[in-house]
Amino acid sequence: MADKAALRALPSVDRVLAAPGAASMLQRFGRAEATAAIRAVLAEIRAGGATPVVPDAGGVAARAAAALEARDRSGLRPLFNLTGTVLHTNLGRAVLADAAIEAAMAAMRDAVALEFDLASGRRGERDDHLRALLRELTGAEDATVVNNNAAAVLIALNTLGEGRQAVVSRGELIEIGGAFRMPDIMARAGVRLVEVGTTNRTHARDYRAALGPDTALLMKVHTSNYRIEGFTAEVGGAELAAVARDAGVPLLNDLGSGTLIDLSRHGLQREPTVREAVEDGADLVTFSGDKLLGGPQAGFIVGRAELIGAINRNPMKRALRVDKIRLAALEATLKLYRDPDRLADRLPALGLLARRAPEIEAQARRLLEAVEQVLPADIAVEAVPCRSQIGSGALPLDTLPSFALRFTAPRGRDLEAFVAALRELPRPVIGRLREGALLLDLRCLTDEAAFLDNLAALAAPHGPV
Ligand SMILES: *Cc1c(COP(=O)(O)O)cnc(C)c1O
Repeated sequence: MADKAALRALPSVDRVLAAPGAASMLQRFGRAEATAAIRAVLAEIRAGGATPVVPDAGGVAARAAAALEARDRSGLRPLFNLTGTVLHTNLGRAVLADAAIEAAMAAMRDAVALEFDLASGRRGERDDHLRALLRELTGAEDATVVNNNAAAVLIALNTLGEGRQAVVSRGELIEIGGAFRMPDIMARAGVRLVEVGTTNRTHARDYRAALGPDTALLMKVHTSNYRIEGFTAEVGGAELAAVARDAGVPLLNDLGSGTLIDLSRHGLQREPTVREAVEDGADLVTFSGDKLLGGPQAGFIVGRAELIGAINRNPMKRALRVDKIRLAALEATLKLYRDPDRLADRLPALGLLARRAPEIEAQARRLLEAVEQVLPADIAVEAVPCRSQIGSGALPLDTLPSFALRFTAPRGRDLEAFVAALRELPRPVIGRLREGALLLDLRCLTDEAAFLDNLAALAAPHGPV
Protein backbone atom coordinates (compact mmCIF):
# COMPACT_ATOMS: atom_id res chain seq x y z
CA MET A 1 0.00 0.00 0.00
CA ALA A 2 1.23 3.50 -0.79
CA ASP A 3 2.37 5.40 2.27
CA LYS A 4 1.62 9.04 3.11
CA ALA A 5 4.88 10.43 1.80
CA ALA A 6 4.41 8.66 -1.48
CA LEU A 7 0.85 9.94 -1.77
CA ARG A 8 2.12 13.50 -1.42
CA ALA A 9 3.99 12.86 -4.67
CA LEU A 10 0.72 12.07 -6.43
CA PRO A 11 0.34 14.45 -9.41
CA SER A 12 -2.51 16.95 -9.51
CA VAL A 13 -5.33 16.62 -12.06
CA ASP A 14 -3.85 19.54 -13.98
CA ARG A 15 -0.43 17.94 -14.16
CA VAL A 16 -1.95 14.72 -15.48
CA LEU A 17 -3.95 16.66 -18.06
CA ALA A 18 -0.72 18.30 -19.20
CA ALA A 19 1.18 15.01 -19.42
CA PRO A 20 2.14 14.00 -22.97
CA GLY A 21 0.08 10.82 -22.72
CA ALA A 22 -3.11 12.79 -21.96
CA ALA A 23 -3.32 14.56 -25.32
CA SER A 24 -4.87 11.68 -27.23
CA MET A 25 -7.33 10.98 -24.41
CA LEU A 26 -8.41 14.64 -24.43
CA GLN A 27 -8.74 14.54 -28.17
CA ARG A 28 -10.89 11.45 -28.12
CA PHE A 29 -13.07 11.86 -25.05
CA GLY A 30 -13.06 15.61 -24.34
CA ARG A 31 -11.98 17.54 -21.25
CA ALA A 32 -14.94 16.72 -18.99
CA GLU A 33 -14.65 12.96 -19.45
CA ALA A 34 -10.87 12.96 -19.18
CA THR A 35 -10.91 15.02 -15.99
CA ALA A 36 -13.51 12.78 -14.38
CA ALA A 37 -11.54 9.67 -15.28
CA ILE A 38 -8.29 11.12 -13.91
CA ARG A 39 -10.06 12.08 -10.65
CA ALA A 40 -11.37 8.53 -10.36
CA VAL A 41 -7.88 7.05 -10.82
CA LEU A 42 -6.36 9.44 -8.25
CA ALA A 43 -9.12 8.64 -5.75
CA GLU A 44 -8.52 4.95 -6.27
CA ILE A 45 -4.80 5.33 -5.58
CA ARG A 46 -5.48 7.42 -2.45
CA ALA A 47 -7.94 4.82 -1.23
CA GLY A 48 -5.16 2.30 -1.10
CA GLY A 49 -5.67 -0.25 -3.80
CA ALA A 50 -2.86 -2.60 -4.55
CA THR A 51 -0.46 0.01 -5.94
CA PRO A 52 2.83 -0.14 -4.05
CA VAL A 53 4.37 2.49 -6.29
CA VAL A 54 2.58 5.79 -6.88
CA PRO A 55 2.44 6.39 -10.65
CA ASP A 56 3.64 9.63 -12.22
CA ALA A 57 1.43 11.92 -14.30
CA GLY A 58 1.93 9.82 -17.42
CA GLY A 59 1.03 6.65 -15.54
CA VAL A 60 -2.18 8.15 -14.18
CA ALA A 61 -3.11 9.41 -17.66
CA ALA A 62 -2.58 5.91 -19.10
CA ARG A 63 -4.82 4.35 -16.47
CA ALA A 64 -7.53 6.95 -17.02
CA ALA A 65 -7.35 6.46 -20.79
CA ALA A 66 -7.62 2.67 -20.38
CA ALA A 67 -10.69 3.08 -18.16
CA LEU A 68 -12.35 5.40 -20.68
CA GLU A 69 -11.57 3.07 -23.54
CA ALA A 70 -13.00 0.06 -21.72
CA ARG A 71 -16.18 1.98 -20.99
CA ASP A 72 -16.40 3.19 -24.56
CA ARG A 73 -16.15 -0.24 -26.17
CA SER A 74 -19.50 -1.12 -27.65
CA GLY A 75 -21.19 -4.38 -26.83
CA LEU A 76 -22.40 -4.24 -30.41
CA ARG A 77 -18.92 -4.19 -31.92
CA PRO A 78 -18.32 -6.61 -34.77
CA LEU A 79 -17.27 -10.13 -33.84
CA PHE A 80 -16.27 -13.32 -35.59
CA ASN A 81 -19.23 -15.68 -35.68
CA LEU A 82 -17.46 -19.04 -35.83
CA THR A 83 -20.26 -20.88 -34.04
CA GLY A 84 -21.12 -22.74 -37.22
CA THR A 85 -24.63 -21.30 -37.15
CA VAL A 86 -24.81 -18.97 -40.12
CA LEU A 87 -28.04 -17.13 -39.30
CA HIS A 88 -27.45 -16.91 -35.55
CA THR A 89 -30.32 -15.03 -33.92
CA ASN A 90 -28.23 -14.08 -30.87
CA LEU A 91 -25.46 -12.79 -33.14
CA GLY A 92 -27.71 -10.67 -35.32
CA ARG A 93 -28.75 -13.15 -38.05
CA ALA A 94 -27.96 -12.22 -41.66
CA VAL A 95 -24.92 -10.13 -42.49
CA LEU A 96 -26.06 -7.62 -45.09
CA ALA A 97 -25.03 -7.29 -48.71
CA ASP A 98 -22.82 -4.35 -49.68
CA ALA A 99 -25.65 -2.99 -51.80
CA ALA A 100 -27.96 -3.00 -48.77
CA ILE A 101 -25.37 -1.32 -46.54
CA GLU A 102 -24.77 1.41 -49.10
CA ALA A 103 -28.48 2.00 -49.61
CA ALA A 104 -29.06 2.20 -45.85
CA MET A 105 -26.19 4.67 -45.41
CA ALA A 106 -27.44 6.88 -48.20
CA ALA A 107 -30.92 6.90 -46.65
CA MET A 108 -29.43 7.76 -43.25
CA ARG A 109 -27.41 10.69 -44.53
CA ASP A 110 -30.09 12.55 -46.40
CA ALA A 111 -33.77 13.18 -46.69
CA VAL A 112 -35.55 10.62 -48.91
CA ALA A 113 -38.98 10.42 -50.50
CA LEU A 114 -40.20 7.99 -47.87
CA GLU A 115 -43.87 8.91 -48.05
CA PHE A 116 -43.72 11.27 -50.97
CA ASP A 117 -44.54 10.44 -54.58
CA LEU A 118 -41.83 12.01 -56.71
CA ALA A 119 -43.88 11.58 -59.90
CA SER A 120 -46.96 13.47 -58.75
CA GLY A 121 -45.52 15.56 -55.95
CA ARG A 122 -48.22 14.24 -53.64
CA ARG A 123 -48.12 12.19 -50.49
CA GLY A 124 -46.95 8.62 -51.09
CA GLU A 125 -46.91 5.34 -49.19
CA ARG A 126 -43.78 4.02 -47.52
CA ASP A 127 -44.65 0.48 -48.59
CA ASP A 128 -44.67 1.49 -52.24
CA HIS A 129 -40.87 1.24 -52.31
CA LEU A 130 -41.12 -2.52 -51.88
CA ARG A 131 -44.57 -3.36 -53.16
CA ALA A 132 -43.71 -3.79 -56.84
CA LEU A 133 -40.53 -5.72 -56.09
CA LEU A 134 -42.30 -8.12 -53.74
CA ARG A 135 -45.09 -8.67 -56.24
CA GLU A 136 -42.54 -9.38 -58.94
CA LEU A 137 -40.53 -11.80 -56.79
CA THR A 138 -43.45 -13.67 -55.22
CA GLY A 139 -46.24 -13.46 -57.79
CA ALA A 140 -48.56 -12.09 -55.09
CA GLU A 141 -51.20 -9.45 -55.83
CA ASP A 142 -49.98 -7.09 -53.13
CA ALA A 143 -47.47 -6.83 -50.29
CA THR A 144 -46.69 -4.97 -47.11
CA VAL A 145 -43.82 -4.93 -44.62
CA VAL A 146 -43.59 -4.66 -40.84
CA ASN A 147 -40.94 -4.81 -38.11
CA ASN A 148 -40.34 -8.58 -38.16
CA ASN A 149 -42.16 -11.78 -38.97
CA ALA A 150 -43.57 -12.03 -35.46
CA ALA A 151 -45.21 -8.66 -36.10
CA ALA A 152 -46.38 -9.87 -39.52
CA VAL A 153 -48.15 -12.84 -37.93
CA LEU A 154 -49.58 -10.67 -35.14
CA ILE A 155 -51.08 -8.05 -37.43
CA ALA A 156 -52.29 -10.58 -40.00
CA LEU A 157 -54.10 -12.58 -37.30
CA ASN A 158 -55.53 -9.48 -35.68
CA THR A 159 -56.76 -8.09 -39.00
CA LEU A 160 -58.34 -11.31 -40.21
CA GLY A 161 -59.63 -12.75 -37.01
CA GLU A 162 -60.03 -10.43 -34.03
CA GLY A 163 -62.78 -11.72 -31.74
CA ARG A 164 -63.17 -14.87 -33.84
CA GLN A 165 -61.44 -18.19 -34.38
CA ALA A 166 -58.35 -19.38 -36.23
CA VAL A 167 -57.96 -23.09 -36.96
CA VAL A 168 -54.45 -24.56 -36.69
CA SER A 169 -53.04 -28.07 -36.66
CA ARG A 170 -51.71 -29.35 -33.30
CA GLY A 171 -48.56 -30.33 -35.16
CA GLU A 172 -47.86 -26.68 -36.00
CA LEU A 173 -48.24 -24.87 -32.68
CA ILE A 174 -44.66 -23.76 -32.70
CA GLU A 175 -42.46 -22.03 -30.19
CA ILE A 176 -39.58 -20.07 -31.73
CA GLY A 177 -36.78 -18.87 -29.47
CA GLY A 178 -37.34 -15.58 -27.69
CA ALA A 179 -40.89 -16.23 -26.49
CA PHE A 180 -42.64 -16.44 -29.81
CA ARG A 181 -45.30 -19.07 -29.16
CA MET A 182 -48.14 -19.36 -31.60
CA PRO A 183 -50.90 -19.74 -28.96
CA ASP A 184 -49.64 -16.63 -27.12
CA ILE A 185 -49.40 -14.56 -30.30
CA MET A 186 -52.96 -15.63 -31.15
CA ALA A 187 -54.18 -14.54 -27.74
CA ARG A 188 -52.47 -11.15 -28.09
CA ALA A 189 -53.96 -10.76 -31.55
CA GLY A 190 -57.38 -11.26 -29.98
CA VAL A 191 -57.97 -14.47 -31.91
CA ARG A 192 -59.29 -17.67 -30.39
CA LEU A 193 -57.18 -20.66 -31.26
CA VAL A 194 -58.93 -23.81 -32.40
CA GLU A 195 -56.51 -26.75 -32.46
CA VAL A 196 -57.23 -29.62 -34.78
CA GLY A 197 -55.70 -33.02 -35.47
CA THR A 198 -52.97 -34.52 -33.32
CA THR A 199 -49.31 -33.77 -32.85
CA ASN A 200 -48.23 -36.18 -35.56
CA ARG A 201 -51.25 -36.39 -37.87
CA THR A 202 -53.73 -33.84 -39.12
CA HIS A 203 -56.10 -34.39 -42.05
CA ALA A 204 -58.21 -32.11 -44.22
CA ARG A 205 -61.32 -33.53 -42.54
CA ASP A 206 -60.03 -32.28 -39.16
CA TYR A 207 -60.00 -28.71 -40.45
CA ARG A 208 -63.42 -29.16 -42.05
CA ALA A 209 -64.93 -30.49 -38.84
CA ALA A 210 -63.72 -27.41 -36.94
CA LEU A 211 -65.35 -24.93 -39.31
CA GLY A 212 -68.25 -22.93 -37.93
CA PRO A 213 -69.88 -19.51 -37.98
CA ASP A 214 -67.07 -18.13 -35.81
CA THR A 215 -64.22 -19.34 -38.01
CA ALA A 216 -62.29 -16.34 -39.30
CA LEU A 217 -59.34 -18.09 -40.93
CA LEU A 218 -57.32 -21.24 -41.38
CA MET A 219 -53.67 -20.99 -40.54
CA LYS A 220 -50.68 -23.03 -41.65
CA VAL A 221 -47.38 -22.62 -39.78
CA HIS A 222 -43.97 -23.76 -40.96
CA THR A 223 -42.48 -26.06 -38.31
CA SER A 224 -39.25 -24.14 -38.53
CA ASN A 225 -37.17 -25.54 -35.73
CA TYR A 226 -38.35 -29.13 -35.46
CA ARG A 227 -39.63 -31.89 -37.63
CA ILE A 228 -42.21 -34.53 -36.86
CA GLU A 229 -41.11 -37.85 -38.28
CA GLY A 230 -42.48 -41.37 -38.44
CA PHE A 231 -46.25 -41.95 -38.65
CA THR A 232 -47.22 -38.48 -39.78
CA ALA A 233 -49.70 -36.65 -41.97
CA GLU A 234 -50.01 -32.97 -42.69
CA VAL A 235 -52.30 -31.12 -45.04
CA GLY A 236 -50.29 -29.38 -47.75
CA GLY A 237 -50.75 -25.75 -48.72
CA ALA A 238 -52.76 -26.42 -51.86
CA GLU A 239 -55.15 -28.85 -50.18
CA LEU A 240 -55.66 -26.56 -47.21
CA ALA A 241 -56.29 -23.63 -49.54
CA ALA A 242 -59.07 -25.66 -51.15
CA VAL A 243 -60.63 -26.33 -47.73
CA ALA A 244 -60.44 -22.60 -46.93
CA ARG A 245 -61.92 -21.65 -50.29
CA ASP A 246 -64.86 -24.06 -49.87
CA ALA A 247 -65.50 -22.59 -46.44
CA GLY A 248 -65.22 -19.01 -47.68
CA VAL A 249 -62.46 -18.10 -45.18
CA PRO A 250 -58.88 -16.98 -45.88
CA LEU A 251 -55.79 -19.14 -45.42
CA LEU A 252 -52.80 -17.54 -43.71
CA ASN A 253 -49.52 -19.39 -44.31
CA ASP A 254 -46.67 -18.42 -41.98
CA LEU A 255 -43.57 -19.63 -43.81
CA GLY A 256 -41.17 -18.43 -41.11
CA SER A 257 -37.86 -18.11 -42.86
CA GLY A 258 -39.30 -18.11 -46.32
CA THR A 259 -37.11 -18.22 -49.38
CA LEU A 260 -37.51 -16.58 -52.75
CA ILE A 261 -35.37 -19.07 -54.66
CA ASP A 262 -34.85 -22.78 -55.11
CA LEU A 263 -32.12 -23.42 -52.54
CA SER A 264 -31.17 -26.79 -54.00
CA ARG A 265 -29.30 -24.89 -56.65
CA HIS A 266 -26.87 -23.82 -53.91
CA GLY A 267 -26.45 -27.25 -52.36
CA LEU A 268 -29.10 -26.72 -49.69
CA GLN A 269 -32.22 -28.70 -49.11
CA ARG A 270 -35.20 -27.62 -51.18
CA GLU A 271 -37.78 -25.56 -49.33
CA PRO A 272 -41.09 -24.40 -50.75
CA THR A 273 -40.62 -20.84 -51.97
CA VAL A 274 -42.88 -17.90 -51.18
CA ARG A 275 -44.02 -17.92 -54.80
CA GLU A 276 -45.10 -21.55 -54.46
CA ALA A 277 -47.03 -20.80 -51.27
CA VAL A 278 -48.83 -18.02 -53.14
CA GLU A 279 -49.50 -20.27 -56.15
CA ASP A 280 -50.81 -22.97 -53.82
CA GLY A 281 -53.59 -20.55 -52.97
CA ALA A 282 -52.69 -19.05 -49.60
CA ASP A 283 -54.51 -15.75 -49.21
CA LEU A 284 -51.70 -14.30 -47.11
CA VAL A 285 -48.10 -15.49 -46.70
CA THR A 286 -45.77 -14.17 -43.99
CA PHE A 287 -41.96 -14.50 -43.86
CA SER A 288 -38.84 -12.95 -42.34
CA GLY A 289 -36.44 -10.43 -43.86
CA ASP A 290 -33.35 -11.55 -41.95
CA LYS A 291 -33.45 -15.33 -42.14
CA LEU A 292 -32.77 -17.11 -45.45
CA LEU A 293 -33.67 -13.97 -47.34
CA GLY A 294 -30.47 -12.37 -46.08
CA GLY A 295 -31.69 -8.83 -45.40
CA PRO A 296 -32.26 -6.72 -42.30
CA GLN A 297 -34.87 -7.57 -39.68
CA ALA A 298 -38.32 -7.29 -41.23
CA GLY A 299 -41.56 -9.18 -41.73
CA PHE A 300 -43.20 -9.44 -45.12
CA ILE A 301 -46.86 -10.08 -45.75
CA VAL A 302 -47.82 -10.87 -49.34
CA GLY A 303 -51.13 -11.96 -50.79
CA ARG A 304 -54.57 -10.78 -51.84
CA ALA A 305 -54.79 -7.03 -52.34
CA GLU A 306 -58.02 -6.68 -50.39
CA LEU A 307 -56.51 -8.35 -47.30
CA ILE A 308 -53.21 -6.42 -47.56
CA GLY A 309 -55.31 -3.24 -47.73
CA ALA A 310 -57.11 -4.22 -44.53
CA ILE A 311 -53.76 -4.88 -42.82
CA ASN A 312 -52.46 -1.48 -43.90
CA ARG A 313 -55.56 0.15 -42.42
CA ASN A 314 -55.14 -1.64 -39.08
CA PRO A 315 -53.90 0.93 -36.52
CA MET A 316 -51.33 -1.65 -35.40
CA LYS A 317 -49.55 -1.08 -38.69
CA ARG A 318 -48.44 2.34 -37.53
CA ALA A 319 -46.83 0.77 -34.46
CA LEU A 320 -45.13 -1.99 -36.43
CA ARG A 321 -43.89 -0.11 -39.46
CA VAL A 322 -40.25 0.05 -40.52
CA ASP A 323 -38.08 3.13 -40.96
CA LYS A 324 -36.38 4.51 -44.06
CA ILE A 325 -33.03 2.89 -43.22
CA ARG A 326 -34.40 -0.61 -43.24
CA LEU A 327 -36.67 0.03 -46.21
CA ALA A 328 -33.65 1.14 -48.20
CA ALA A 329 -31.66 -1.95 -47.14
CA LEU A 330 -34.61 -4.24 -47.88
CA GLU A 331 -35.15 -2.78 -51.33
CA ALA A 332 -31.47 -3.21 -52.21
CA THR A 333 -31.48 -6.78 -50.86
CA LEU A 334 -34.61 -7.76 -52.78
CA LYS A 335 -33.25 -6.29 -55.99
CA LEU A 336 -30.32 -8.72 -55.84
CA TYR A 337 -32.84 -11.53 -56.37
CA ARG A 338 -33.48 -10.26 -59.88
CA ASP A 339 -30.13 -11.77 -60.86
CA PRO A 340 -30.13 -15.29 -59.39
CA ASP A 341 -26.89 -16.23 -61.15
CA ARG A 342 -24.85 -13.78 -59.12
CA LEU A 343 -26.91 -13.92 -55.94
CA ALA A 344 -24.49 -16.12 -53.95
CA ASP A 345 -21.63 -13.72 -54.75
CA ARG A 346 -23.58 -10.68 -53.64
CA LEU A 347 -25.71 -11.87 -50.75
CA PRO A 348 -23.46 -12.89 -47.84
CA ALA A 349 -26.07 -15.06 -46.12
CA LEU A 350 -26.42 -17.22 -49.21
CA GLY A 351 -22.73 -17.06 -50.08
CA LEU A 352 -21.81 -18.43 -46.64
CA LEU A 353 -24.45 -21.13 -46.74
CA ALA A 354 -23.29 -22.17 -50.20
CA ARG A 355 -19.59 -22.49 -49.29
CA ARG A 356 -18.37 -26.03 -49.92
CA ALA A 357 -16.42 -28.10 -47.41
CA PRO A 358 -13.23 -28.52 -49.50
CA GLU A 359 -12.81 -24.76 -49.71
CA ILE A 360 -13.31 -24.39 -45.95
CA GLU A 361 -10.91 -27.27 -45.32
CA ALA A 362 -8.24 -25.54 -47.39
CA GLN A 363 -8.80 -22.42 -45.31
CA ALA A 364 -8.45 -24.38 -42.06
CA ARG A 365 -5.16 -25.91 -43.22
CA ARG A 366 -3.91 -22.51 -44.33
CA LEU A 367 -4.64 -20.95 -40.95
CA LEU A 368 -3.45 -23.78 -38.74
CA GLU A 369 0.22 -22.90 -38.45
CA ALA A 370 -0.29 -19.18 -37.92
CA VAL A 371 -2.91 -19.83 -35.26
CA GLU A 372 -0.68 -22.33 -33.48
CA GLN A 373 1.98 -19.65 -33.09
CA VAL A 374 -0.16 -17.28 -31.05
CA LEU A 375 -1.74 -19.94 -28.84
CA PRO A 376 -1.02 -20.20 -25.12
CA ALA A 377 1.40 -23.07 -24.50
CA ASP A 378 -1.24 -25.30 -22.94
CA ILE A 379 -3.71 -25.14 -25.83
CA ALA A 380 -3.53 -27.48 -28.83
CA VAL A 381 -5.20 -26.98 -32.19
CA GLU A 382 -6.05 -29.23 -35.13
CA ALA A 383 -8.22 -28.98 -38.25
CA VAL A 384 -11.28 -31.24 -38.17
CA PRO A 385 -14.41 -31.76 -40.25
CA CYS A 386 -17.63 -30.52 -38.67
CA ARG A 387 -21.17 -29.60 -39.61
CA SER A 388 -22.62 -26.10 -39.81
CA GLN A 389 -26.20 -25.19 -39.14
CA ILE A 390 -28.31 -22.74 -41.08
CA GLY A 391 -29.90 -21.27 -37.97
CA SER A 392 -32.91 -19.09 -37.22
CA GLY A 393 -35.14 -22.11 -37.47
CA ALA A 394 -34.49 -22.48 -41.18
CA LEU A 395 -34.11 -26.08 -42.38
CA PRO A 396 -33.52 -27.37 -38.82
CA LEU A 397 -32.31 -30.83 -39.76
CA ASP A 398 -30.23 -29.84 -42.71
CA THR A 399 -26.61 -29.45 -41.61
CA LEU A 400 -23.82 -28.50 -43.99
CA PRO A 401 -20.42 -30.23 -44.14
CA SER A 402 -17.77 -27.77 -43.00
CA PHE A 403 -14.34 -27.54 -41.39
CA ALA A 404 -13.23 -26.22 -38.04
CA LEU A 405 -10.22 -25.44 -35.94
CA ARG A 406 -10.58 -27.61 -32.86
CA PHE A 407 -8.91 -26.41 -29.65
CA THR A 408 -8.23 -28.60 -26.64
CA ALA A 409 -6.36 -28.24 -23.38
CA PRO A 410 -4.58 -31.60 -23.40
CA ARG A 411 -2.92 -31.26 -20.03
CA GLY A 412 -6.25 -30.64 -18.40
CA ARG A 413 -5.64 -26.91 -18.21
CA ASP A 414 -8.46 -24.48 -18.37
CA LEU A 415 -10.09 -24.37 -21.79
CA GLU A 416 -12.74 -22.02 -20.34
CA ALA A 417 -10.08 -19.37 -19.73
CA PHE A 418 -9.01 -19.61 -23.36
CA VAL A 419 -12.61 -19.35 -24.55
CA ALA A 420 -13.04 -16.26 -22.36
CA ALA A 421 -9.82 -14.73 -23.73
CA LEU A 422 -11.19 -15.15 -27.27
CA ARG A 423 -14.32 -13.30 -26.22
CA GLU A 424 -12.20 -10.45 -24.87
CA LEU A 425 -10.22 -9.90 -28.06
CA PRO A 426 -10.60 -6.50 -29.77
CA ARG A 427 -12.92 -8.32 -32.12
CA PRO A 428 -14.46 -11.13 -30.04
CA VAL A 429 -14.21 -14.65 -31.47
CA ILE A 430 -17.22 -16.83 -30.70
CA GLY A 431 -17.12 -20.57 -31.32
CA ARG A 432 -18.97 -23.52 -29.88
CA LEU A 433 -18.00 -26.00 -27.17
CA ARG A 434 -18.36 -29.62 -28.08
CA GLU A 435 -17.20 -32.72 -26.25
CA GLY A 436 -14.68 -30.85 -24.13
CA ALA A 437 -13.20 -28.96 -27.10
CA LEU A 438 -13.73 -25.55 -28.66
CA LEU A 439 -14.71 -25.62 -32.31
CA LEU A 440 -14.22 -22.57 -34.52
CA ASP A 441 -16.23 -23.43 -37.62
CA LEU A 442 -14.64 -21.46 -40.45
CA ARG A 443 -17.71 -21.34 -42.70
CA CYS A 444 -18.39 -17.70 -41.80
CA LEU A 445 -14.76 -16.56 -41.76
CA THR A 446 -14.35 -14.24 -44.70
CA ASP A 447 -11.43 -12.07 -43.60
CA GLU A 448 -8.51 -14.34 -42.71
CA ALA A 449 -5.99 -11.51 -42.36
CA ALA A 450 -8.19 -9.65 -39.89
CA PHE A 451 -8.76 -12.88 -37.98
CA LEU A 452 -5.03 -13.53 -37.60
CA ASP A 453 -4.26 -9.90 -36.72
CA ASN A 454 -6.92 -9.99 -34.06
CA LEU A 455 -5.71 -13.32 -32.68
CA ALA A 456 -2.20 -11.94 -32.34
CA ALA A 457 -3.47 -9.98 -29.30
CA LEU A 458 -3.61 -13.34 -27.48
CA ALA A 459 0.17 -13.51 -27.56
CA ALA A 460 0.63 -9.85 -26.52
CA PRO A 461 2.50 -9.52 -23.17
CA HIS A 462 -0.59 -8.38 -21.28
CA GLY A 463 -3.01 -10.62 -23.12
CA PRO A 464 -5.90 -9.12 -25.05
CA VAL A 465 -6.56 -5.45 -24.45
C1 LIG B 1 -38.77 -17.19 -37.19
C2 LIG B 1 -40.24 -17.41 -37.30
C3 LIG B 1 -41.13 -16.44 -36.88
C4 LIG B 1 -40.67 -15.14 -36.29
O1 LIG B 1 -39.97 -14.40 -37.23
P1 LIG B 1 -39.04 -13.16 -36.78
O2 LIG B 1 -38.58 -12.57 -38.06
O3 LIG B 1 -37.95 -13.75 -35.95
O4 LIG B 1 -39.89 -12.24 -36.00
C5 LIG B 1 -42.48 -16.68 -37.01
N1 LIG B 1 -42.92 -17.84 -37.52
C6 LIG B 1 -42.08 -18.82 -37.91
C7 LIG B 1 -42.67 -20.08 -38.47
C8 LIG B 1 -40.71 -18.63 -37.82
O5 LIG B 1 -39.87 -19.59 -38.23
